[in-house]
Amino acid sequence: MKVGVLSLQGDVREHVSALISCGINPVEVRRPSELAQIDALVIPGGESTTIAQLSEIFGLYQPIRERIAAGMPVYGSCAGMILLANNILDSKAGQKTFGGLDITVRRNAFGRQVDSFESDISFADGSSHLIHAVFIRAPWVEEIGANIEVLATIDEHPVAVRSASILATSFHPELTHDHRIHRYFLEEVAKPALEKVK
Ligand code: GLN
Repeated sequence: MKVGVLSLQGDVREHVSALISCGINPVEVRRPSELAQIDALVIPGGESTTIAQLSEIFGLYQPIRERIAAGMPVYGSCAGMILLANNILDSKAGQKTFGGLDITVRRNAFGRQVDSFESDISFADGSSHLIHAVFIRAPWVEEIGANIEVLATIDEHPVAVRSASILATSFHPELTHDHRIHRYFLEEVAKPALEKVK
């Protein structure tokens, strides 16, 4: 499986090294020809407005939207979650997303005083171990559609969700040494989705 990391802005390097730890040699995606080579994509944390704007400048916005709509497996952390949401609250005027996930996210939802925090949370991948979750000006999921599964919550707000081929977390597993979420994406989300289209 060829996995790309959208490499326009944000913590690209950290996702690249998390994927390398999972035995993947990722492609850094900055142009449509690189997007065309990959089977699955990771969208990093960073600034969702900037990533969306740069994707338009680099001619990637429409091709990414189309690949996601056609079923390409995608994982987005934090800004990546925002970019995968069909609807955003507290967005910048005219802010675009790639969409694909039938969720409404609220940007910077945890408020200014607790802009950034860390918490050990459970993640519904069948493991009883808590996951150390790093939140940095993170969104939460405010509404979910019928086909969305909630994998983790904080104070009843979903912070990890998935559909058949899309995974999104409000937090940044790429900033820890625990690669469980990346493995979950590769094994439980991307592989089965790609098997289906074969
Ligand atoms: N608040 C940022 C945004 O709206 C996301 C922050 C992050 O990715 N750490 O894009």
